[in-house]
Amino acid sequence: MRAEARERAAALGPLLPVEPGGRGPDGSPQLGTGQVFATKTGETFHRAWCETVGQVWDQRPKSLFLITEGSVGSRRPCKQCTVV
Ligand SMILES: [Zn+2]
Repeated sequence: MRAEARERAAALGPLLPVEPGGRGPDGSPQLGTGQVFATKTGETFHRAWCETVGQVWDQRPKSLFLITEGSVGSRRPCKQCTVV
């Protein structure tokens, strides 16, 4: 099943991590201009620090990435995030 997950993730488009705009007191990445949160195999991206992002940070901080909005590929915006 892991191979399938990898294939699905690959179909979303390459994950191109960028340096965060800043870091919070706990080391949590903060969005810079034009950046969104993404996870390694997630099919969604996040425009804000939403519940999902918080959960990933708590449980699997190494799988939380920042990418530019232009490189989201076919990832969809998360429904919890406020769409501005
Ligand atoms: Zn979200």
